[in-house]
Amino acid sequence: GSIKIGISACLLGQPVRFNGGHKESRLCSDILSRHFEFVPLCPELAIGLGAPREPIRLVGNPTNPRALGSVNRTLDVTGALDDYGRETAERLDDVCGFILMQKSPSCGMERVKVYQENGVPSEGGGRGIFAAALMRARSELPVEEDGRLNDPVLRENFLTRVFAYAEWQRLL
Ligand code: SF4
Repeated sequence: GSIKIGISACLLGQPVRFNGGHKESRLCSDILSRHFEFVPLCPELAIGLGAPREPIRLVGNPTNPRALGSVNRTLDVTGALDDYGRETAERLDDVCGFILMQKSPSCGMERVKVYQENGVPSEGGGRGIFAAALMRARSELPVEEDGRLNDPVLRENFLTRVFAYAEWQRLL
């Protein structure tokens, strides 16, 4: 069968973002979808938040931030997103890669804004909570962000790793 790749659902045009919109990537929805079987998911919907919803933001130490409501700071979804990331890593044991939505406090792979207590973002940023949990649980899984896939070299590199991973899994 075709190779399965997990993907942030908003990249396939699903209206799951905090503002009720999406972030459709033509590269993913029109081109890569011809070659792969995408398994879309939205961690924030999966943990019970609705769309539209209050935006979540990362707060605290950039290496170990918390995911809090941007208005209601007593809303803490860190544990729920972390659990969902670990569950997903186990449940989707047949995906050979993951494409994540950049800059998201849940799905972002790198340089996601992490706010200090005074409200100013830390330099460098951090990783979304779902992405961090998934990547910790499946450290060998090829993971990439949508924005980086527009770079032909990074795209080629990601696809090479996906095919190598698929081969390796079949050999096990
Ligand atoms: Fe959902 Fe992740 Fe997209 Fe945010 S970035 S809407 S959590 S799939």
